[in-house]
Amino acid sequence: MSAKIISGTEIAKAIRDELKEEVAGLKEKHNVVPGLVTILVGDNPASQSYVSAKNKTAHALGINSEQVTLPADTSEQELLALVAKYNQDPKINGILVQLPLPKHINETKVLYAIDPEKDVDGFHPVNVGKMVLGEQCYLPCTPHGILELLSRSGVKTSGAEVVVIGRSNIVGKPIANLMLQKRPAGDATVTLCHTRTKDLAAHTKRADIIIAAVGVPKMVTADMVKDGVAIIDVGVNRIGMSESGKAILAGDVDFEAVKEKASFITPVPGGVGPMTITMLMKNTVQAARQAAGLE
Ligand code: NAP
Repeated sequence: MSAKIISGTEIAKAIRDELKEEVAGLKEKHNVVPGLVTILVGDNPASQSYVSAKNKTAHALGINSEQVTLPADTSEQELLALVAKYNQDPKINGILVQLPLPKHINETKVLYAIDPEKDVDGFHPVNVGKMVLGEQCYLPCTPHGILELLSRSGVKTSGAEVVVIGRSNIVGKPIANLMLQKRPAGDATVTLCHTRTKDLAAHTKRADIIIAAVGVPKMVTADMVKDGVAIIDVGVNRIGMSESGKAILAGDVDFEAVKEKASFITPVPGGVGPMTITMLMKNTVQAARQAAGLE
């Protein structure tokens, strides 16, 4: 068996096309233009490229996107004051502070200062709490993207044995929580594994769906999975440099070998990655609808 490749690039494009239409409709019918501000502190090249991709995508969809770049020595107070300013700005529906922040700034303090109504990253404890309770909220972007990948590819999750590897606050914990809820792409029986898990392969071998969010290149090998498994590979690992100077990426799964046993698999790049930015846009449009009293 060779797996069906789940193209995050294609699914993200389909969602962006839907969002573009929705944004145009909001403007035409309600004179509402969603507004997003991205705040970058310092000159970390990876963060710069993430922020510029977010702004480019927002503009392409008709979202009003503002990018603020602050010097690396910006104080915590200055950053908090800026967040407070955007909390009050009615033209801004979503505030994104790009992580990581320089060491002298307390990330938690800054994330907690964002108005939960504008927390389109879904990291504020109010949104995390609502997510756990299954209430309407902004879902964190990467797990949200994974749910869309599963449901739009027709991967059956109800009653499935799901093994999530990695327990970070941004991927592992939220996706495990969401998939055990009574919801689309949910109703699964979930096991969450990490570095203290005794026999990882014993868990992965009985999984119908494996979600790997680890940060170790190709750690999930073919002998660790059963025939017909569906694989969502969240990992983005740089494993070298091409002659043209481009980073060579690998996921957390040994794609070439595992795809011969799996029924579905996401590639890296082109799997989960394009979904994350797209779900940020979806959350921003949701925020604009809510602010305008449309839902
Ligand atoms: P993280 O915060 O570093 O967490 C990694 C998790 O993996 C931890 O819970 C760790 O366990 C676990 N782990 C590490 N080595 C392990 C091993 N050998 N066996 C079992 N568990 C192991 O990572 P993250 O932020 O969730 O990111 C994970 C990967 O996804 C990274 O490659 C990141 O670049 C990528 N990512 C991609 C996107 C995207 O949009 N495509 C978004 C976010 C992240 P402990 O808790 O016990 O230490």
